[in-house]
Amino acid sequence: MGLIVQKFGGTSVANLEQIHSVAKRVAKTYDQGNDVVVILSAMAGVTDGLIDMATKISESPEKRELDVLLATGEQTTAALLAITLNAMNYPALSMLGHQAKVVTDCSFGNARIIEIGAEYLIDIIKKRNIVVVAGFQGCDIKGNITTLGRGGSDTTAVAIASALKADLCEIYTDVDGIYTADPNVCEKAKKIDKISYDEMLNMASLGAKVLQIRSVGFAKKYNVPVHVRSSFSEEEGTMVVSEDAGMESLIVSAVTHDKDQARITLKKVHDQPGIAAKIFTPIADAGIVVDMIIQNTRAQGQTDLTFTVPKKDFQMAMEIELKVAEEIGAVDVLGDKNIAKVSVIGVGMKNHSGVASIMFNTLAKENINIIMISTSEIRISCIIEEKYTELAVRVLHTVFGLDEED
Ligand code: ADP
Ligand code: ASP
Ligand code: MG
Repeated sequence: MGLIVQKFGGTSVANLEQIHSVAKRVAKTYDQGNDVVVILSAMAGVTDGLIDMATKISESPEKRELDVLLATGEQTTAALLAITLNAMNYPALSMLGHQAKVVTDCSFGNARIIEIGAEYLIDIIKKRNIVVVAGFQGCDIKGNITTLGRGGSDTTAVAIASALKADLCEIYTDVDGIYTADPNVCEKAKKIDKISYDEMLNMASLGAKVLQIRSVGFAKKYNVPVHVRSSFSEEEGTMVVSEDAGMESLIVSAVTHDKDQARITLKKVHDQPGIAAKIFTPIADAGIVVDMIIQNTRAQGQTDLTFTVPKKDFQMAMEIELKVAEEIGAVDVLGDKNIAKVSVIGVGMKNHSGVASIMFNTLAKENINIIMISTSEIRISCIIEEKYTELAVRVLHTVFGLDEED
């Protein structure tokens, strides 16, 4: 018996039938004597649909208003689950972000949680109520509704689990755990029983959207045990926990991919102090996150500079750089949205050489051109043409010995 936070993703609450299944699972946990706090996403596809509607009206809707709109998706599911639980004679109360006292900064669309007023929630839970919180949303100190970035309900769940000192945070989703590669892309991906916060942080930052990266950061900082598992079965999933001795044995433990990438190249930039700052300052000021950067070797005092940004920011970044190019005298600005990043990750890579050469040779054998490369102690990433993503993931998964035996 204890306090358990259960989060259900969009596919787990896609219709009333599934909301009923969620209610049964919550009720079962409650009947076992646990206190339960439920965090819900919007029904699958609803957030995308709301964004589509807003962008039909305006190309760049006011961010504050967009958050008011997007928050409605989670408001709907939270209320529907509470109504379902009540109809089953369970005392459930739904709450929006501000009611659950999820206080954030004021970065609309990508807000960070500053604090959660735990006493209020604890008071309600102690009276044996099931609290159903709308995920993905909070409010800033002025009372504006904010949202936490795509996939943000994971972060609501872990943050509430940490604020309430819950015994466990369960993330229910449409796969039965965290795999060595996206199981929807790589048939031979294997389920991982236990993964360290650091490795999961890397996977999430490199495209494994099974957990939002900020939720993993929270879990690591506050040592929240997270169990990722399926809404559609009773099977054990994957535990995300602190690193232990046995975890370093694999050289490569996962392959990830990220199609949310676009590339921008400034041709023939003067190779002199201050130019890089001129290129990247306006990008940072626009709140755009740059991932990889490559500067070519200097030739005749000039160089090409290439970098990647999320696809959604591509248009804005191109517009910014066209202006910058004029200012600094760059010859041209090229853009490409049809790229993807594939990465191999492994804590064990720290002590092994040769991983990069195996990766490059494997891609070469399939005739896949590597457009950009970046590395860290525990990962290697390559930018390739988007159409080769699935193939690249599969061949890398095989060559590093990760395939599930038949
Ligand atoms: P939810 O709506 O429940 O939050 P998401 O779509 O955000 O679900 O995350 C689950 C999806 O993450 C899976 O359907 C799967 O395609 C994807 N995914 C990507 N990489 C992995 C991985 N390594 N292991 C498991 N799932 C992964
Ligand atoms: N509904 C939001 C999204 O689709 C948040 C979430 O599902 O976690 O991104
Ligand atoms: Mg998600």
